[in-house]
Amino acid sequence: MNIMFLSCKQVTELVEKKQLVGLSTIESMRFRLHVVMCAACKSYERQSLLIEQALKRMIQVSRSDKDAAQLHPDTKLKILEKIKTSK
Ligand SMILES: [Zn+2]
Repeated sequence: MNIMFLSCKQVTELVEKKQLVGLSTIESMRFRLHVVMCAACKSYERQSLLIEQALKRMIQVSRSDKDAAQLHPDTKLKILEKIKTSK
């Protein structure tokens, strides 16, 4: 393995690592050096970011749906009281 030049496979791994935990200074330098010269990896990074953002939006939407489906605690108590008093 060359010290400064990464393979495309190594760069795709760094794209994922960058989004998850960030890169060290050396990794970041090697990453940028490769992406400047390689259109495929530049495109991969852009697409990976789009997928990441889309997934985050999907998770937020599904969470807000879940919240909307839950009853407010006060409403729950009122329903429980009605059930108890209706006996
Ligand atoms: Zn590449």
